[in-house]
Amino acid sequence: MREECGVVGIIQFNPELHPVPSALRIYYALYALQHRGQESAGITVHDGKHPGTIKGMGLVPEVFNKDDLVGLKGDVGIGHVRYSTSGDSRIENCQPFIVNYKSGSVSLAHNGNLVNSHDLRTQLEAEGHIFVASSDTEVIAHLLVKELLKHDVVEAVRNVMKQLNGSYSLAIMIDDLLMAVRDPLGFKPLCIGTIDSGFVVASESVAIDTLNGKLLRDVKPGELVIFRNGDVESHQLFDEKYSAHCVFEYVYFARPDSIIDGQLVYKVRERIGERLAREHPVEADMVSPVPDSGITSAIGFSKESKIDYEESLMKNRYIGRTFILPGQAMRETAVRLKMNTIGENIKGKKVILVDDSIVRGTTSRRIIDMVRNAGASEVHARIGSPPIVAPCYLGIDMASRDELIAAHKTIPGVEAVINADSLGYLSIDGLVESIGINRDELCLGCLTSAYPVEIPGENICQRRQLKLHEF
Ligand code: AMP
Repeated sequence: MREECGVVGIIQFNPELHPVPSALRIYYALYALQHRGQESAGITVHDGKHPGTIKGMGLVPEVFNKDDLVGLKGDVGIGHVRYSTSGDSRIENCQPFIVNYKSGSVSLAHNGNLVNSHDLRTQLEAEGHIFVASSDTEVIAHLLVKELLKHDVVEAVRNVMKQLNGSYSLAIMIDDLLMAVRDPLGFKPLCIGTIDSGFVVASESVAIDTLNGKLLRDVKPGELVIFRNGDVESHQLFDEKYSAHCVFEYVYFARPDSIIDGQLVYKVRERIGERLAREHPVEADMVSPVPDSGITSAIGFSKESKIDYEESLMKNRYIGRTFILPGQAMRETAVRLKMNTIGENIKGKKVILVDDSIVRGTTSRRIIDMVRNAGASEVHARIGSPPIVAPCYLGIDMASRDELIAAHKTIPGVEAVINADSLGYLSIDGLVESIGINRDELCLGCLTSAYPVEIPGENICQRRQLKLHEF
């Protein structure tokens, strides 16, 4: 099971100075991170004695109500939104995940995916640990409890990290001690900021903005951050030579107004559009985005090509969740529910349709057909990422290799399936340069089929192999 999620943690140091309870602040932060997960949401707050939790299936406003939140007392807490396109959308998999043990409690909110969770779980089960859910977060929680029985917090986290292979950005509470951890390669984003009364840690800086806070910095790959004694304590537990930030966060997943690892996502997407216009120019009457994912790149494309930006599709913003229902038939209905064409803008026009990515090709085909049926004379697809040729094992739920259209078809083959007059994908160099982060610092697994960590049956990138030996 793969998951895409959003995490948040908050600590407020002077209760008398902050009129807004921590639980409410976490709730607002989760609202800002809703795009990272629409299937379940949860908040755990610690009152100094016990953790209290509210979690459930659904969107943030569906899971929480004001009275319950106000009843959740405590100055420190964590929150989580979860997205899963797999069938395993059970309440038990909702986070934060809490384990009580003899010295207290461990609460975890996890974004990422472990490659070796099955092995770790089998080993823990053999030692007598009992699991109630199927998510790898529970594995991390059990490992942590095991280590906490023998070591102090820092050593315990270090020992857990040594055993984990994969991606993890974590907000952790050990009793009422708030911590944050980012895996040694920094796959998934995680940043920290200040709010009037304390600190916040979140998957994306938009959560900090929403709380009217100030972004301090990203949590570094391999870093453990502990918020205590009114301060941010940093422990660099691993120091790998290269990081492996997920490129798909920039391409699709993150909100454009977030700053991730020093780059404003909006600017990255704009540069992607500009570069795409240079790499795949085409004569047309208008540049149009597939909303919302293609908007910023379409703006960049229009600026660079000097072809007018005009909308041709309108999105119904109130049915977001149909998007994630599993199954092909539902996905096709979802497209029709989600989008309508603006016929008058399109009729008789040569349209450049900009989107961020093609995964299965199904949505793209439907949308292009809609634009044609609305009267476009030509539809040219321009895609703000290179062909996705391999699955993600590290936390982006894309599709299996079988389902990935570019894993099996050439570019002209994809062009034919999606029924475009022409198709242009951004090059890998184009993407890397648009992101503005050195290629060595990025995970390009889904684009190259070579991964920065060992994955059974897959290739590891040469450079990483070297690095692993050096480590
Ligand atoms: P398709 O043509 O069926 O491959 O769908 C392409 C659309 O899916 C694009 O508009 C993308 O924005 C969107 N998309 C890309 N990656 C994901 C993902 N991991 N989960 C859900 N939708 C995605």
